[in-house]
Amino acid sequence: MTPLRAVKGMNDVLPDEVGRWQRVERAYARSMALHGFREVRTPYVEPTALFVRAIGEVTDIVEKEMYSFDHRGEALTLRPEGTASAARAYIEHAVHGREPVTRWWYTGPMFRAERPQRGRYRQFFQVGAEIFGDEGPGCDAEMIDMLVGFLNELAVPGIEVVVNTLGGPSTREQYRAALVAHLTPKAESLSADSQRRLGTNPLRILDSKSESDKAAVSDAPTLHDFLGAGDREHFERLRAALDALGTPYSVDPRLVRGLDYYTRTLFEIRGAHDKLGAGSTLVGGGRYDGMVAALGGPSVPAIGFAAGLERLLIASDLTEATNTVDALVAPLGAGATTAGLVLARDLRRAGVRCEIDTRGGSLKSQLRRANTLGARIVVILGDSELAENVVQVKDLAAHTQDRVGRDDVVRAVALRLADDTARMVAPAASREPA
Ligand code: AMP
Repeated sequence: MTPLRAVKGMNDVLPDEVGRWQRVERAYARSMALHGFREVRTPYVEPTALFVRAIGEVTDIVEKEMYSFDHRGEALTLRPEGTASAARAYIEHAVHGREPVTRWWYTGPMFRAERPQRGRYRQFFQVGAEIFGDEGPGCDAEMIDMLVGFLNELAVPGIEVVVNTLGGPSTREQYRAALVAHLTPKAESLSADSQRRLGTNPLRILDSKSESDKAAVSDAPTLHDFLGAGDREHFERLRAALDALGTPYSVDPRLVRGLDYYTRTLFEIRGAHDKLGAGSTLVGGGRYDGMVAALGGPSVPAIGFAAGLERLLIASDLTEATNTVDALVAPLGAGATTAGLVLARDLRRAGVRCEIDTRGGSLKSQLRRANTLGARIVVILGDSELAENVVQVKDLAAHTQDRVGRDDVVRAVALRLADDTARMVAPAASREPA
């Protein structure tokens, strides 16, 4: 029978890799806590209408990337991103009535039916955060600076911060008209996608990858020509705050990003191109001051971002050198196995991560197993040790072996582990031969 395989673009993460994932997740949770954010968990499935309203009907996500289905008459969608759900939960639980400013973070899988490639998957994980209730550019700068700190902590080389402002809705309207006026005479030179977008979502033409589209927009007016005084001041204050924080960035007036909901501040953080290729965007974020009201909530300004976890892992130079356990209890023979189970339990109660090889193989094979697991200590229990109520404590890092009385084993092992100057590094990635 042909074995079944995972859905295309949806990946398993095997235990050898999970350590790096957890390290990034821990660093993120810590960074969030340091900045006063609290975790929120929303469902993976939402009403389709939520994403259509929040993200916008004529966006790539809503037009062609959502996993939508009908379930007993309800139109549902696997969430393609986290912001719409966060905003929905914020409104549904009337959080605005309890606190003037809300800082939430989240992590979890997102689903988009894109063409899979390196760094682009159909189920992928994001870490993200939202701030509701603060319209000032100060928290925008704080968010960008926090992300730079987080990426530095992950040892991501070559990061570049790009910022832009989209102004408010009236700026967008005026600019949209000017862009359409500029591009309409050149419509025939545009890609098929962009010709269509000219009538639906012309701003998206600005971030088209097609060469002919790039040529057509190269001399287009920029959105900055249409900014009102308030938008301009907001952007200037953001830049001044980033300067004061010493966060390097560049301004790209053509940065628009794919989603409809952005207003004013918009940003992207990219990693070194050699690692990520064309999909070098690690983090995308921006203000969405109109979304909460558009979803039926009060008029509350907001800003947020999301970063792809798989892309962070590709970009990060961190290695995770953890071992699976600290100690292996190695009983030699059936009689020793029972005594070994008791000993292993005692070690665990003292906080020693420990595995027992209940297959009762030869000492040689058990030492090989200890090596694979990265265990520093092997507690050997043979028949003669059993008879004398002792064990052998073998320290693979210090290259010693001691005979220790049964009652002293836990203390002896814990003492050796506390002195981790000779701590072992990661076990070999290869599997132990069967
Ligand atoms: P977005 O929600 O489109 O603004 O994307 C934010 C971040 O999520 C991107 O910068 C990527 O790091 C990540 N991302 C978006 N789409 C995918 C995908 N299909 N596969 C992997 N990561 C993704």
